[in-house]
Amino acid sequence: MAERKQMNVILIRHTGFPEETVSLGAKLCYSKANIEDLKAKISEKDQSAFIQRLMNMGHESVLEHATFTFGIEGVSRALLAQITRHRVGVAFSVQSQRYVSYENGFGYIIPPSIEALGEQAVEEYHAQMNQIEEWYRSWQERLGKQGEKSNEDARFVLPNACETRMLVTMNVRELRHFFSLRMCSRAQWEIRALAERMHELCLQVSPELFRDAGPACLRGKCPEGEKSCGMQMIKREEREKLLARLNEENQNAE
Ligand SMILES: Cc1cc2nc3c(=O)[nH]c(=O)nc-3n(C[C@H](O)[C@H](O)[C@H](O)COP(=O)(O)OP(=O)(O)OC[C@H]3O[C@@H](n4cnc5c(N)ncnc54)[C@H](O)[C@@H]3O)c2cc1C
Repeated sequence: MAERKQMNVILIRHTGFPEETVSLGAKLCYSKANIEDLKAKISEKDQSAFIQRLMNMGHESVLEHATFTFGIEGVSRALLAQITRHRVGVAFSVQSQRYVSYENGFGYIIPPSIEALGEQAVEEYHAQMNQIEEWYRSWQERLGKQGEKSNEDARFVLPNACETRMLVTMNVRELRHFFSLRMCSRAQWEIRALAERMHELCLQVSPELFRDAGPACLRGKCPEGEKSCGMQMIKREEREKLLARLNEENQNAE
């Protein structure tokens, strides 16, 4: 039986002390001091203002010294096609449809718009997924159950809704670029939900590197022109609320 899946995003690893690492990269460019001395000096002082200055002046290559690795599951192959368009400062490992067989059923994602149509629509969608699974299994049989050989061609009948999982590593420069494009209201709902979740996980680790990351309208004018959603003020208020909530959670945890 095909089975409905929900998005799950885990922050697996990140560069230790990402803000200090980024600052070290930049201070090194402007200082005569040796690296040990610079490192000690950076650890002693809060780097927030310095990092903000770096980003404002566009000295962004130093952001490439810090990386974040995410485990992502419960997302569709439609999302996969979009996220893998990001080419720079990023690494992907994606579950294979050749080596992994779905003979016991595949996971699928249901769009909120279909869910909003009600229970009957959801059941119809589920039945369609089960129908596809039958087609898939029948092709596996006809292709002679040759393991990856039959999987690799039987998968051609699988839908965009089919669940996939992946490990994604991005450096901070690319993450900020990714958030800028994919947290915009004009981005597709699923990748936007993923980007929002990844951003929140990054914010919890490093408020300074990610405080203003997100759609371009948080930092200036909306670049979408006539197609702008017109929600710039709402987006900014939402960001303030998110920062306040995370701040409160941090204080409660201390
Ligand atoms: C709302 C939305 C709708 C979209 N619709 C479509 C669509 O209909 N069809 C479609 O095909 N794609 C679509 N895309 C994908 C989009 O065109 C990009 O491929 C995707 O967002 C990846 O971004 P990027 O090119 O900035 O890549 P990244 O890999 O994230 O690159 C980061 C930056 O590095 C630089 N860079 C990277 N590679 C090169 C290079 N080869 N040469 C010079 N500079 C480079 C660029 O400055 C680039 O912005 C859409 C994206 C969004 C957000």
